[in-house]
Amino acid sequence: MAFEGLSERLQKVFSSLKGKGKLSDEDVRKVMREVRMALLEADVNFDVVKTFVKTVRERALGAEVMESLTPSQQVIKIVDEELTKLMGQEAVPLNKAPHIPTIIMMVGLQGAGKTTTAGKLANRLKTNNKARPLFIAGDVYRPAAIEQLKTIGQQLDVPVYDEGTDNDPVEIVKNGLAVAKENKNDYVIIDTAGRLEIDEQLMEELQKIKDLAHPNEILFVADSMTGQVAAKVAHGFDEQLDITGVVLTKLDGDTRGGAALSIRSVTGKPIKFIGQGEKLDQLDVFHPDRMANRILG
Ligand code: GDP
Repeated sequence: MAFEGLSERLQKVFSSLKGKGKLSDEDVRKVMREVRMALLEADVNFDVVKTFVKTVRERALGAEVMESLTPSQQVIKIVDEELTKLMGQEAVPLNKAPHIPTIIMMVGLQGAGKTTTAGKLANRLKTNNKARPLFIAGDVYRPAAIEQLKTIGQQLDVPVYDEGTDNDPVEIVKNGLAVAKENKNDYVIIDTAGRLEIDEQLMEELQKIKDLAHPNEILFVADSMTGQVAAKVAHGFDEQLDITGVVLTKLDGDTRGGAALSIRSVTGKPIKFIGQGEKLDQLDVFHPDRMANRILG
């Protein structure tokens, strides 16, 4: 289960406070040292942990005693609020173009879940917005990726614009957008190539697609299982492409929390959706407060 280790650790830390009438400064410091260890073990970025712990500690030490809460409840409340803030405070909706089509470009490393998430998004838009999306198959390096997108397209009854693997992806996107315009599709979802790691050539290609398509949304798809590495890679993509949001995938697995808790702080960009399974309906809006509650158990 996601965040299991972190949740257990934090619950244990906070249970050590139970029954205490008033917390001494030393109690707070001790608890925060434990929280720090728990976050580092969950693979949260070091600087993020440092700032987080400092903020919580200062708030907890300076907190006026609230009659309605026990000292341990008060610390938990502060941790809850700061975790929520760390993950962006509020849900951020998908950007929408003033005129159709809204263009969404999916980017990320290979295997992160770009193609699957493209499908999930189209499914969501069809179901919730009665949208008529079009996919553009921009990953010309892996024939399997095009086939995968076509299969998803068939399942969802969403057309896929592709030119196989022979043409330049920038040209393909250009032609695909012309088709979307002709067919009055209200959303265009561009699937792009990934690599095993950040690579200059790929970034150049993505930059060219961005310059041509002017996407309303550039979603970085991050595999939450990769922990704080996901945040580092997201930062790399953001520096090159100025991403507009993040989708965290594989939160149905036993991910530790490093990606969810680091990515917003490291990139400054909102996590908009979370993937919680392989099926096309397993994409949810990301709510920082609910995620904080899930972590605190
Ligand atoms: P891409 O290379 O970035 O396009 O990645 P894919 O979309 O092909 O996904 C890689 C693998 O991750 C596939 O086996 C997907 O089924 C799986 N996957 C994607 N998102 C999720 C998710 O949210 N949960 C789980 N469990 N698997 C996922």
